[in-house]
Amino acid sequence: MTLDESSLMNESAAEAPLLGIDIGGTKILGGLVSRRGEVLFEHRVPTRRQHLLADLVEVARIITAEAGHGPRSIGIGTTGYIDRVNGVLVQSMNMNIGDVPIAQALSDATGLPVLVENDVHAATIGEIHFGAGRSHRDFVVFNAGTGLATGMVFNGKLHRGASNHAGENGHISSDQSRTTLCHCGLSGCTERLIHEVRAGAETVPAYLPRIEPPARKEHGYLALSLIQLVNLLNPAAVVLCGGMFTSDPASTNWVRRAVAAHALPHTLKGLTEIELSRTAPFTGLVGAAALALEANV
Ligand SMILES: [Zn+2]
Repeated sequence: MTLDESSLMNESAAEAPLLGIDIGGTKILGGLVSRRGEVLFEHRVPTRRQHLLADLVEVARIITAEAGHGPRSIGIGTTGYIDRVNGVLVQSMNMNIGDVPIAQALSDATGLPVLVENDVHAATIGEIHFGAGRSHRDFVVFNAGTGLATGMVFNGKLHRGASNHAGENGHISSDQSRTTLCHCGLSGCTERLIHEVRAGAETVPAYLPRIEPPARKEHGYLALSLIQLVNLLNPAAVVLCGGMFTSDPASTNWVRRAVAAHALPHTLKGLTEIELSRTAPFTGLVGAAALALEANV
């Protein structure tokens, strides 16, 4: 190979699309993402938890074939608790599965290194590179989809916590009068309340007296959870993502106004925006793809 050929190959690797797969409770979404955060190709299949590895291998084969020779790794974001070193999905409460060796299976099938990350942490890494991180050093990514969880960015870095499980605000109890238990063992977890109300159960609405009631009761719990986070963390920006926001634009506006009405005034001084993710509805996919930038592979 001549020097010119070598530098051309390096240039093409630097411009090559990023490969990502987002594993959610209802769908697996794989795709190619440009180095500016644009989705170039997508392929989705329903999540079948009993066939997760086989379906993932198939999605990985399709996106690597579409990408050609450029990509050097695959990034995976998945719901659940992750062993990042070994790329194993240790446990997913939402999918009720565990000990899934994702990195090994996909690496064997494609020959590429595979990076595995919790889906909300991955979405947050995507926002650091392509979204709110371009303007803010301290922000949160508030995800309301199948579950409720948050990515926290302090001074430009994702806060993972001591065992890579930071941000499980869905398991902060918002109603201690409940006698039914969440799978975590507490009662009245915000995530559980949202599931119950969406399933048609009678629940006590979130009490937010400074604003009119929301169009949908679950938005009250979302706002309550976000007010708790804003008061705790004092972020400069809040990025909203997940199906509960992307499928219902009215929810964003009401939640924004509820936070403005109820978060602490001195905290609100620093909060400049509450916006839907700039990469929605592909926040999870873009985040999975961005893992390659974070790991520099
Ligand atoms: Zn819980």
